[in-house]
Amino acid sequence: MDGSAEERSIRARRNFLKGMVTGTATTAAGIAAAKPTKAAGTVNPGWEAGAPSYVGQEGRRWAMLIDLRKCIGCQACTVACKFENNVPEGHFRTWVPDVELGTYPDVRRAFLPRLCNHCERPSCIEVCPAGATWQRKDGVVEIDYDLCWGCGSCVDACPYDARFMNPVTRTVDKCTFCTQRIDQGLLPACVESCVGGARQFGDLNDPESPVASALREQPVQVLKPETGNEPRVFYIGLPHSLQNNLPGRPTLWSEDRDTAGTAAPDAEWHLATDREAEHV
Ligand code: SF4
Ligand code: SF4
Repeated sequence: MDGSAEERSIRARRNFLKGMVTGTATTAAGIAAAKPTKAAGTVNPGWEAGAPSYVGQEGRRWAMLIDLRKCIGCQACTVACKFENNVPEGHFRTWVPDVELGTYPDVRRAFLPRLCNHCERPSCIEVCPAGATWQRKDGVVEIDYDLCWGCGSCVDACPYDARFMNPVTRTVDKCTFCTQRIDQGLLPACVESCVGGARQFGDLNDPESPVASALREQPVQVLKPETGNEPRVFYIGLPHSLQNNLPGRPTLWSEDRDTAGTAAPDAEWHLATDREAEHV
């Protein structure tokens, strides 16, 4: 996920060409000033400002809960996601690395399913010079592939390494919580296919949803809580040694958060203390 030489080459070329065309310095201020709005138009009619797939499901706040005690590392989710979303070979919208924990002879293996966290405060949005990434009112962070020019700013800004350069579309790509499925009332492909029953998906604003009720009943963890991104992918049984041990750095957070619908109240769940996390 660090980016291949080919990906870096594509990004470098696009940055160079974009700079020649626009003459715009790639500073945060320059980017913000140059950022077009969705109302300026897109060639993808499904993502016109105001279209249901652009706005999302108002009043909902989608989230995922992953119980690491149940993940068996089978990669069924990884494969299902690739088929569902036509993810090119060598790239992943979700992936399940395995890690060794502890010191010999007291060691064990753990699996850590990863994906875009659909953060409450996504640091990927503010840095996008093309206005190609946005947050729906149900919290899903999306990319308009017709607007993305592949500069890679968001890839660098994401502290969770969740984005990659798609060598086929030549745009940035990532998990979308399978909006093409959830907008039809289906589960994301990774949840549907999870052999261990480790992944749950639901609406944080619906107290009856499986995720909301599970979050009320037990302490949970998120990756890199100190980034301030407020991930909406929660974990049960996440070892403290893995929680912050991911590549990437926090950068900006998005001003778009305030216009991104009705956030679920944080008080509904209890982030585990280190001691609780180690004893789940
Ligand atoms: Fe997803 Fe990263 Fe953006 Fe968070 S910052 S919404 S993890 S791409
Ligand atoms: Fe783990 Fe479920 Fe993915 Fe298998 S399908 S690797 S059990 S999260």
